[in-house]
Amino acid sequence: MKSYDNSIIIRGLKVTACHGVHGFEKREPQSFVFDAELFCDFSDTAGTDDLGDTVSYSDACSMIVRIASENSFNLIEKLAYECAYALMDAFSLNGVKVTVYKPEAPVKRDLDTVGVVVSLEREKVYLSLGSSMGDRESYIKKALEELNDTRGIRIRKVSSFIETEPYGGVAKNKFLNCAAEAETYLSPARFLKRIHEIEKDCERERDKRWDDRTLDIDIIFFGNRIICEDDLTVPHPDYANRGFVLAPLKEIAPDFVCPLLKKRVKFM
Ligand code: ATP
Ligand code: CA
Ligand code: CA
Repeated sequence: MKSYDNSIIIRGLKVTACHGVHGFEKREPQSFVFDAELFCDFSDTAGTDDLGDTVSYSDACSMIVRIASENSFNLIEKLAYECAYALMDAFSLNGVKVTVYKPEAPVKRDLDTVGVVVSLEREKVYLSLGSSMGDRESYIKKALEELNDTRGIRIRKVSSFIETEPYGGVAKNKFLNCAAEAETYLSPARFLKRIHEIEKDCERERDKRWDDRTLDIDIIFFGNRIICEDDLTVPHPDYANRGFVLAPLKEIAPDFVCPLLKKRVKFM
């Protein structure tokens, strides 16, 4: 978790509710205890002393109590995610950390409690979208709509659409390309999974790399994160060499600084 100047703490919030995989846990309420840390900027309160310039911990507590008592989940993992998502959706937080304890969990051991922790951070994500088959514009627009309809993802900006020559010597058709800025609190892995689902919804087939395709969505930047996983490299390894990525990106994010090259997009 990044370090933020401000956070609001909730500790030891108790709710009686019915979560667990066993039938009896769904019928007989037991105790759940919540800790939460809400990362937000309330520095204006130093001058204003106004509740409107911060997040109400009372509202945040009510939200956790409502979610815990109105639902019955198998897993406290799911419960923690639902609370974390709801807090991120409801308040303008930079991040959140939710801990759920289940002190009466049916574990035949001498222990104080079991629990889980979920941490989320809000990030700006820059995407490059392209299509070279079928109704190219509708594929890209459908993809942007599906992204925006995903819980935890909002599309904030879309560049104009440009027509470009195929790249990499495999594809034959001209491409339609654009860039988009999304805001998300999903992890990079979950975001990538959603991209693959949307590409599949748009009949994307994976034969040859760089071949013609109905839809391609690449993650160019994920906040300032540098990711080198088997299935995800961010910043995208080749973006700086691609005019069809840079031109639309310059339109919507000229001042974004690449965390690897330490250079503003507009100077690339
Ligand atoms: P290129 O990545 O050179 O533009 P491509 O987009 O044609 O090529 P794909 O077939 O769409 O390549 O993707 C192959 C794999 O690349 C994906 O399954 C994904 O796991 C992985 N990948 C790695 N880094 C990224 C990234 N930054 N954005 C999207 N996918 C990525
Ligand atoms: Ca690509
Ligand atoms: Ca891709």
